[in-house]
Amino acid sequence: MLTDSTPPVAAEIWLSQPRGFCAGVVRAIEIVERALALHGAPVYVFHEIVHNGHVVQSLRERGAVFVDTLDDVPPGALTVFSAHGVSTAVATQAARQHLQVLDATCPLVHKVHQQAQRYAQQGRAIVVIGHAGHEEVVGTLGRVHNAYLVGTVQDVAHLPLAADTAVAYVTQTTLSIDDTREVIAALQARFSNLQGPDTDGICYASQNRQTAARTLAAAVDLMLVVGAANSSNANRLREVAAQQGVPAHLVADETGVDAAWLRGAQRIGVTAGASTPEVLVQRVAKRLRELGAGVVLQAPGVQENVVFRLPLALLRRAA
Ligand code: SF4
Repeated sequence: MLTDSTPPVAAEIWLSQPRGFCAGVVRAIEIVERALALHGAPVYVFHEIVHNGHVVQSLRERGAVFVDTLDDVPPGALTVFSAHGVSTAVATQAARQHLQVLDATCPLVHKVHQQAQRYAQQGRAIVVIGHAGHEEVVGTLGRVHNAYLVGTVQDVAHLPLAADTAVAYVTQTTLSIDDTREVIAALQARFSNLQGPDTDGICYASQNRQTAARTLAAAVDLMLVVGAANSSNANRLREVAAQQGVPAHLVADETGVDAAWLRGAQRIGVTAGASTPEVLVQRVAKRLRELGAGVVLQAPGVQENVVFRLPLALLRRAA
């Protein structure tokens, strides 16, 4: 029987599986690293290569120069496009400036671009389901004409398209599956001639991390998601965990952990967005132990073995 003098049992820390880096992020970072090794600094990178400040800072210290407009890149310079992909206008500007481009666009984002372009060639209006302003969404919208962005069921109701318009949708790869399902249902209810991808556009890494986070959140008292505030998939993980009725917090690293969150928690779940390095997860686990948590355990889950090939242009340069 527990009494007031019984010492509290140290909370278990459960690490979600899978968590952290996906194949698209690993590939994008490797492209910048190899470009730096082959050519030396500077290597220009259009936008944050992935949404994680620690990753960006580490590459910056090694000579990567991050820009938000190609106007800031000297003619002919070696330039990497980020994992989120770019619009046709950006690709055209790069060609105009004779930039040596290494494209780190995730192959799964590239697939979404191709899908949207195929639908557009069929004469369909394209609806992109995603978050306004996110680089991936800006890139996808900029790959086709006659494209519309929707983020919510309400946005679907406001689309300036007649009900019998030929419409096709594609999705941002990192949305939560539940959000997408609702918006797709609203599109189906609104348009009689609607097409979408055979399988939905949420990528394998987002799906696996969300499924694992949902399962873990149902079994713990507190969920921490390690990831940047501007990381779409990290934010979705926090939402998915919170939907299980458990307190869920997004922390960039160990400094974001609030000791008060641990009060009364017997089990703490930790996951990480697809652009979060494992070292940050380990630093958060260490911080939790400093605050009194005990053993660190790996939750059961899917083992991923997806690897994306590096761009041919980079392999040729290396050869
Ligand atoms: Fe590619 Fe998915 Fe990773 Fe985004 S989260 S980089 S789409 S694998």
